[in-house]
Amino acid sequence: MVTTREQIVHAIRLLGVGAGDLMIVHSSFKSLGGVAGGPAAVASALVDAVSPGGSVFVPTFTYGVDAYDPATSPSGDGVITEAFRKLPNAVRSLHPTHPVAGIGPEASAILEGHDRVDAFARNSPLWRLWERDAWVLLIGVGHFANSAAHVAEELLEMPYLDRRRRARVVRSDGTVEVVELRRPGCSDGWDAAIGPPLRERGAIRDGVVGGARLQLLRARDVVDVTAELLRRDAAALLCNRSTCDACAQGRQLLRVH
Ligand SMILES: [Zn+2]
Repeated sequence: MVTTREQIVHAIRLLGVGAGDLMIVHSSFKSLGGVAGGPAAVASALVDAVSPGGSVFVPTFTYGVDAYDPATSPSGDGVITEAFRKLPNAVRSLHPTHPVAGIGPEASAILEGHDRVDAFARNSPLWRLWERDAWVLLIGVGHFANSAAHVAEELLEMPYLDRRRRARVVRSDGTVEVVELRRPGCSDGWDAAIGPPLRERGAIRDGVVGGARLQLLRARDVVDVTAELLRRDAAALLCNRSTCDACAQGRQLLRVH
C-alpha cells in the first residue's frame, strides 16, 4: 500500500491540526512505508496541513559535521527534513549546528537571529514555538526526537549545558569562520523519561498513517512535563548508555554544582 500526500494531510488534520496553526514536525520517512512522490510529498503534506495561513517547521540539524552553509549543508534529521528545506519558500535559520527550517508567514519571525543564541535558548526557534504553544508532531519517531524538551533544560538553566564545542560556519562572502558555542544535552534517554508522564497527563493525541504512528502534542505540555521532571531530579533527562560521554560528563557537572 502506497500512502498519498492527501492521506497524510488528512491524518494530521484528524488529530486536530488546522489552517493557520504553528507546528514543528520530527519524522522518520521509513516508518511510513511507501509514499507516492517520496519525501518531498511528505514535506509538502506538512505545509498543506497548516495551510492557508499556518507555518510549519522541521529540524535540519547538521550536528557540526561540516562547516555550516544554510544553502547547501544537508539536514542530519532524515530525508523528509532534507526535502523540506529544499522546497520553494523554505527558510532556514543560521545556527551553526542546530538550524531549523520553516515555511509559512511566521517562518522568518520564528527563525530570525538563531545565530545569536544557543540552539534552544531564549529567542531560538524552539523557544519561540514553545512561547506560541505550537503543535509538536512526531511521525514514526519517539520522544528522543522531541526537541521542545530542550527548552525546559534552558528554562531551568541545567548545569550540564555548560559543555562547549567549536563549529565552523560559511559566511555569505564564502569565508569559513570558527565559532564557539554550547552543546545541547543528549536526548537518548527521553523516550523513557518524558514519554510516560506526557501520556499520563493526557497530552498525547495518537494517530496513524501508512505504517507510521503519529503523536501530536502541544509544545507547552512537553516543556511543562519536562521542567517538572528536572525540578524533581536534575539528572532525569540524562541517558544510561555506558558509552555516552555527554551524559557521563553531565552527571559530573551536576555533582560539582
Ligand atoms: Zn546520553
